[in-house]
Amino acid sequence: MIKRILITGGAGFLGSHLCDRLVKAEQDVICVDNFFTSQKSNIKHLLDEPNFELIRHDVIYPLFLEVDEIYNLACPAAPGHYQFNPIKTTKTSVMGAINMLGLAKRVKAKILHTSTSEIYGDPDVHPQPESYRGNVNPIGPRACYDEGKRAAETLMFDYRRQNKVNIRVVRIFNTYGPRMHPYDGRVVSNFIRQAMAGEDITIYGDGSQSRSFCFVDDLIDGLLKMMNAPDELCGPINLGNPGEFTIRELAELVVELTGSTSKIISDRPQPQDDPKQRCPDITLAKEKLGWEPQIALKEGLAKTIDWFKSIDISQYRAPTPNY
Ligand code: NAD
Ligand code: UDP
Ligand code: UDP
Repeated sequence: MIKRILITGGAGFLGSHLCDRLVKAEQDVICVDNFFTSQKSNIKHLLDEPNFELIRHDVIYPLFLEVDEIYNLACPAAPGHYQFNPIKTTKTSVMGAINMLGLAKRVKAKILHTSTSEIYGDPDVHPQPESYRGNVNPIGPRACYDEGKRAAETLMFDYRRQNKVNIRVVRIFNTYGPRMHPYDGRVVSNFIRQAMAGEDITIYGDGSQSRSFCFVDDLIDGLLKMMNAPDELCGPINLGNPGEFTIRELAELVVELTGSTSKIISDRPQPQDDPKQRCPDITLAKEKLGWEPQIALKEGLAKTIDWFKSIDISQYRAPTPNY
C-alpha cells in the first residue's frame, strides 16, 4: 500500500537520506523544511520525482495536511546551530512537537519523533540505557536543545496516554555521513574539512572525551524499522553505534584516512557542559528491532571523506559562527 509520509526537517542531513529511501520505496513523500540549517542541494535531485513534494514551512506554526505517517526531524542538531538562536530551538522542539502531534491526532497518523542522546546530558552511567534518566543542566548553553527534546518526549507520551496517538520515540546518538553541513561545527565535519584544507585540527579540551559515531545509512535503517515495528513498541529506543572513540582517536583516524599534513592541536577550551563520555546501550534495539549498525567508523569515514571531496564547499552557507 502506498502511504502518504510527512518528513519534517526533510531537507536536512538525516531527513534528506530518509526522503531518498522512502521515495525509492515508492511512497508518497512530503518534505517540510524552513531551511534554517540545510540547503536545497540536499533534495534537489528529488524535486522532479512524481512521489516527492516540498513545502517550505516552519513547524512552530500549525500545518494542516492529510498523511498516514509523520517523521518529526525538524530541529537544529549541531551545538553551534542550536545555540545560535536558543529560544527558537526550544520553540521548534516544543511547538513543533505539539503541532505535529495535533496533526497526528486529527488524521490518526503514526508519528516517529527523533529524540537524542543529549536527553542523558553529561552522563554518570556508562554506556547509557534507555532507563537512565540523565544528568542535564537545565539552565546551561545546551539546555535549549536538551530540555526542548526532553519536553518533546513528554508530549509524545502524554499524547499517547491522553489521545491514543500512535507514537515512536528514538534517541539518536552522534551520526555522520554524506550531506552533513560542512560548517555545522560538529566534530566529524570540522576535522574532515580541516584535514582536507591542511589546517590545524582543533581538539577542544584534551581530547579524552568520547563519542560513538553511527554512519547515516545504518541510522536510517533503524528509523524505518522503528516506524514499521509493532504498535506496542513506542520506545524510547536508543539508535547509535556502540563503538566508542576518544576525540583524539577520531582526529588521528581522519588524518590517516585523508593523508593530511595537518597538525592536531589541543589548545582550545572544552565547551561548557560538554559530555565527557557517550556510548549507547543498544540491547533494546537489537532485541526488539533486530537492528545493529553494520558500518565501522573507518569505512564510514572513508565514504564521508569521498563525499566532502566531491562537493564545492564554497557553495555552502555558514549559517552560524564556527570557531
Ligand atoms: P540538520 O540540521 O541537518 O536537519 C534539521 C532540519 O530541520 C534542517 O533541514 C532544518 O532546516 C530543519 N528545521 C530546523 N528548524 C525548523 C523549523 N522550525 N521548521 C522546519 N524545519 C526546521 O540535523 P540532522 O542531523 O539531520 O538532525 C535531524 C534530527 O535528528 C534532529 O531532530 C536532531 O535533533 C536529531 N538528531 C540528530 C543527531 C545527529 O547526530 N545527526 C543526533 C541526535 C538527534
Ligand atoms: N494542529 C496542526 N495541524 C492539524 C491539527 C492540529 O498543526 O492538523 C495544531 C493545532 O493548531 C494546535 C496543535 O496542533 O496548536 C495541537 O493540537 P491539539 O488538537 O492537540 O490541541 P488544541 O488544538 O486543542 O490546542
Ligand atoms: N569537538 C572538538 N573539536 C571540534 C568540534 C568538536 O574537539 O572542532 C569535540 C566537542 O567538544 C565534543 C565532541 O567533539 O566533545 C563532539 O562534538 P559535536 O559538536 O560533534 O557533538 P556533540 O556530541 O557534543 O553534540
